[in-house]
Amino acid sequence: MNRRLHQHTPEPADDHFDSLVRNAINFLRKSVQELEKFPKYSVIHFYMALELFLKARLLREHWALVVLKVEKASLQAFQNGDFVSVTLDECLQRLETIANESLLPHEYECFRTIRDHRNKLVHFFHRDYQPPIKEKIFARIVSEQCKAWFYLHRLLTTKWKIHFVPYLKQIARLEKLIHRNQHFLLSKFKALAPEIKEAKEKGISFVVCDVCRYESARIKKLLNPLFEQNCLVCNWHSHFLKIPCPQCEKSITVWPEGDGECKDCEINICLDYLLERLGPDQHPKEESSIAPLL
Ligand SMILES: [Zn+2]
Ligand SMILES: [Zn+2]
Repeated sequence: MNRRLHQHTPEPADDHFDSLVRNAINFLRKSVQELEKFPKYSVIHFYMALELFLKARLLREHWALVVLKVEKASLQAFQNGDFVSVTLDECLQRLETIANESLLPHEYECFRTIRDHRNKLVHFFHRDYQPPIKEKIFARIVSEQCKAWFYLHRLLTTKWKIHFVPYLKQIARLEKLIHRNQHFLLSKFKALAPEIKEAKEKGISFVVCDVCRYESARIKKLLNPLFEQNCLVCNWHSHFLKIPCPQCEKSITVWPEGDGECKDCEINICLDYLLERLGPDQHPKEESSIAPLL
């Protein structure tokens, strides 16, 4: 029996999706390798990877959505690669309005910042990237890319995981590579270590930063139960709530991105529970302490 007869024949959009994701992974790998010696090319390649991953997700809705002028989309032209594709803004807008995949405001802002850097580098002169690059500026470039990767990686491995399952191993390898290549953030962390130690001795708490992975995220209580987290190394900033678990009373952290979970009781804290617990209606004598960001 001819085994080839039994092979799955991919749809045209499947082939295109696969090539977009493979290219995105290659560009990202290149971006990491270039970061130290050629930061300019690293940003350009990082942006290309970002755009390709977003387009790949859009392609999962329908191939025609990747074409800039949907009304003129032709399958034959698409298959031949003979079309003008969407810009970053259009891609994000179509993801939101058609695929119902809206990103968080800080994710949009971060992706657009990388796009703006890339545009300035490709079309104009970009002062920050002219050699010799100052260590402070370099640390900022690294932290911006780390932040963008953090948001993109989170999308690919959680919300959009179902579409990227065949590539998860490669994405995990990239994640390791990116975190191994943070030389400048490491030197910044080492430089700040004495200050962090001193602050800890004064009772200020630090946790491991989700973006750069150093124990350099300073925790500040704003208004119970609202807290703020500021990373001294990569400048990542976020708010969160600390709520006692309704079952075991252990503290649960609730991030603006989603629900919080008690790992012991596997209880999820959702927005409805927060409104019920912290809402002004339930505590008429107390000032509402719902996080304005949530
Ligand atoms: Zn950090
Ligand atoms: Zn619990």
